[in-house]
Amino acid sequence: MKTISILGATGSIGDSTLDLIRHDKKAYDVKVLTAGSNIEKLITLATEFKPEVIACANESDFKTLKDACPFADVMSVSDAALIDSDWTMAAIVGTAGLAPTMNAIKRGQTVAFASKECLVAAGDLMMKAVRTSGATLLPVDSEHNAIFQVFDETQKKQVERLILTASGGPFRTTDATEFPTITREQALNHPTWTMGAKISIDSATLMNKALEVIEAHYLFDMPSSKIDVIIHPQSLVHSMVEYSDGSILSQMGPSDMRTPIAHCLGWPNRIQTSGERLDFKKVSEMTFETPDTDKFKSLSMVRHVLDEGQAASIIFNASNEVAVAAFLNQEILFTGIYDVIEFCLDSVDRLPTHTIDDVMILDQHTRDKALNRIKTNNTKVHYA
Ligand code: NAD
Ligand code: MG
Repeated sequence: MKTISILGATGSIGDSTLDLIRHDKKAYDVKVLTAGSNIEKLITLATEFKPEVIACANESDFKTLKDACPFADVMSVSDAALIDSDWTMAAIVGTAGLAPTMNAIKRGQTVAFASKECLVAAGDLMMKAVRTSGATLLPVDSEHNAIFQVFDETQKKQVERLILTASGGPFRTTDATEFPTITREQALNHPTWTMGAKISIDSATLMNKALEVIEAHYLFDMPSSKIDVIIHPQSLVHSMVEYSDGSILSQMGPSDMRTPIAHCLGWPNRIQTSGERLDFKKVSEMTFETPDTDKFKSLSMVRHVLDEGQAASIIFNASNEVAVAAFLNQEILFTGIYDVIEFCLDSVDRLPTHTIDDVMILDQHTRDKALNRIKTNNTKVHYA
């Protein structure tokens, strides 16, 4: 039996992971479940899976959790991440996941890794911790999981390009002049994937793909110049690796996160799943197009961010997190998201990034600047 920890159990990735586990309960022992503030859902999941440890973000909720789940120890999310287990799903959204994910990595076991914001903010430090602890980091993000499945480490020097596919999001064909009028509901309505709110907005701005370029840079140790992005609206080819002889290897499958998660659950073997299969007889077309980097500025910004280094990545990510939250609260327009990011990249001091504490200080400093921009700017950032 594999012992399992799920950091971010109440989210979309948490749901898909627990759904796979639910179908083969004899193979897994769920030991740790953590949440942010969705206490009711955590209690429901804990009642079903009977973990030894449960955790949430706010200490004020500990008593409610303990009363509802007397069989489990209750502690902070970071402490729960230190509890021994064979396999951890790291799926906390945003840099709130950084300390717990680092704790899971330090244990030296297997970490299935979804929390891309953590890698964007602290890629150098995280990859160093992976090397030091001997942990196995398995990419969950569908693109990176696809690359992982076809990336031959022994032929790394012969890898010419990683080709990340992107659905293009809900506004692929929308004219840029209409961007200021985009509503929260339109932006949350992703054409091919069902996901949490933050990543859905990131997919609409293509910030998600920009963050994924940085994620690929760290996971596969590839420079920005060897990471391409191509729009593939059907989301069936999940990404590709091109080798020096012109061969391109891809991984394909349905647009369902349970497939990459199942790959991580079974790795280095494969598990049996009963999910939907990709039926080529029903696929009417597979198309590819060049992304419009004038319309989706995130894709041009990320190239400068990667050239500059870690401090710029932290600013890029933190300003986006604040801007997305403000857009979801209907405080800024869709185009305001790019404005807040550009403003922070232009104005936030590049503080040192030697330690995780340094990262969190620059992350907070950026959040303060971004919030201030949202409060005070009434020209470039428009209020809804
Ligand atoms: P979600 O919003 O549905 O869930 C996020 C989880 O994090 C929840 O369990 C929430 O309670 C927890 N959380 C939030 N704030 C917290 C805090 N301060 N402390 C502790 N826990 C906290 O998000 P999601 O869609 O499941 O995405 C999770 C991560 O996986 C993100 O980094 C996302 O980019 C990445 N990812 C998601 C998908 C997807 O299909 N959903 C695909 C690829 C990558
Ligand atoms: Mg992805």
